Amino acid sequence: MPDISSRYIESLLIKELAFAYPDIVNACSSNDVDVVEGVVENLETELCRICDNIELIHPGELEGASPELMKDARSAVSECVKEIGTNLMSAISEHGKNELLSCIDPVKTDPILYSERIGLSGMPSKLVCHAENVVPSVIKTGKYPENGVWNNDRLQIAALAMLVEEEYGKTVKYGFVEYAKYGIVRKVIIRANDRRQILKIGNRVKKIKDGTMPDKKESTLCEHCNYSEMCNKCSTKVSLASRFF
Ligand code: SF4
Repeated sequence: MPDISSRYIESLLIKELAFAYPDIVNACSSNDVDVVEGVVENLETELCRICDNIELIHPGELEGASPELMKDARSAVSECVKEIGTNLMSAISEHGKNELLSCIDPVKTDPILYSERIGLSGMPSKLVCHAENVVPSVIKTGKYPENGVWNNDRLQIAALAMLVEEEYGKTVKYGFVEYAKYGIVRKVIIRANDRRQILKIGNRVKKIKDGTMPDKKESTLCEHCNYSEMCNKCSTKVSLASRFF
C-alpha cells in the first residue's frame, strides 16, 4: 500500500500480541475477577514490549511510519486489551486452561507449506497440536462474526488444512481462527465443499501459470495492486459467457 495507516500498524501489533496469548494464559491460575485484571496487566506489559520491538520485527512494513501513527495504533490496541483479557478468561472458565492452550499454543509459527499436487502454497499463522492432531490456525485482526467464522477464513483454513495433510500425511478435519483483537478463538470443521472449492482455486492458479489469464475482476484491491498495469494489459474484461459460470 502506498500510504501506511494507523489501522495497518494496529493489525501488526495485534498479531504480535496474539503470539503472546499462550504464555499469558499459561500464567493464569484461576478464573476469578482478580485474574482478569492480572491478565489485562500482562497484556499491557506485553504490548509495551511489542511496541518497543515492532520496527525490528517488521522493518520493511513500517518503513516511513511516523511516530504519531505508531502512537495512534498503540492506543487503539491498548483500548482492546480489557476485552481480550475478559474473553480469554471466559474461554478458560468454559473450556479449561489446557483445552484453550492446545488451541492456541504453537508447535510452529508462520511455517511455509507447499503442495505440488494441489498447486498451492500457504502460510498459517501457526500450527497447533490439538488432541494429538497437528492443525492450522490463522490469526485475524478484524471483527468476528456472530457465529462460526467468515467464509473467506473458512476457505483459508480448508486450504491450509489440505497443505498440512500433504506435509504430515494425516487427515486434518478442522483448524482454528483466532480473532485476536477480541481474544476469541473459533474452531472450523472442514467440509467436503470447502475442499472442492480449494481444488477449483488450485486449478485456476495452474491455468494462470500455464498462461491463461482469468477475466479481470474490479475490486478495491486493484487500486493499490502492483500488478494492475500488467493485469490491465493481459486480462480480458469479464465476458458475457463467464457471467453464467
Ligand atoms: S489489478 Fe488485477 S491482479 Fe491486481 S487485484 Fe485487480 S484484478 Fe487482481
